Amino acid sequence: GLMSAMPTPASTPEPSRSKAAGPMVEAIGVRKSFGAVEVLSGIDMTILPREVVCLLGPSGSGKSTLLRCINHLEKLSGGRILVDGELIGYRERGDRLHELGSAELARQRRDIGMVFQRFNLFPHLDVVGNITQAPMLIKGESRAEATRRAHELLEIVDLAGKANAYPHQLSGGQQQRVAIARALAMRPKLMLFDEPTSALDPELVGEVLAVMKRLALEGMTMLVVTHEMGFAREVADRVIFMDRGVVVEQGTAADVIARPRHDRTKAFLKRVL
Ligand code: ADP
Ligand code: MG
Repeated sequence: GLMSAMPTPASTPEPSRSKAAGPMVEAIGVRKSFGAVEVLSGIDMTILPREVVCLLGPSGSGKSTLLRCINHLEKLSGGRILVDGELIGYRERGDRLHELGSAELARQRRDIGMVFQRFNLFPHLDVVGNITQAPMLIKGESRAEATRRAHELLEIVDLAGKANAYPHQLSGGQQQRVAIARALAMRPKLMLFDEPTSALDPELVGEVLAVMKRLALEGMTMLVVTHEMGFAREVADRVIFMDRGVVVEQGTAADVIARPRHDRTKAFLKRVL
């Protein structure tokens, strides 16, 4: 299928072990408004360690906002989010939540890798420089250690030959695979993907999905916003369909994609399949 062209990985991405025995992600009654407009209207969601969940839904349904709430790029208007048992973005004091300071937010975000539609590589750094920057600056890894790890990750994303290329010398698919390697360099316990292939030419989509499938097989916990139904069917343990700020239905990919129960899900699938 999709992944048959991928070589055997040189080594595993070594996802950090989860601390707690409970869920990796727990969203409880998450609400988010921008001004008077409520974009998330009480989202409950649980993702278990090593689970791969695909988040589907029409444009504007709140998928990106939910992902951004998970690493506290957005403040919540209500509810709470825990990652690996830890409340994200806030400290509980009495019955009030107080937003964490920037150092604590940065510490929480270190464990959550995010890959966006646009690759956002640093144009003035080569591939190794892009991958080693955060581990060196944020985790204090030595250049030697970060570089060793970068080369390991480049094997995993099938770019061993591009270590010293600059972003503009790479295809979109290659840049996105560097972006994945860069996120993995922080040894996240959770990876969030927001439409990682929608900006790519169609012929480059498969190589990025192949790398994501490899991560999934190696046990990375992943929440993936995507319109790639083939990937959802083949890789997702569970599919969640969102519309207008609420979870409309969820289940196995086979259930939700092949036997949607709600009209909104049916209408969405008719458009993307
Ligand atoms: P999706 O990713 O499912 O397409 P988004 O989470 O990007 O949806 O957006 C959900 C809604 O929230 C949209 O109507 C969008 O215009 C609105 N929105 C997102 N970010 C902001 C913002 N920073 N300010 C105001 N409205 C926003
Ligand atoms: Mg979006």
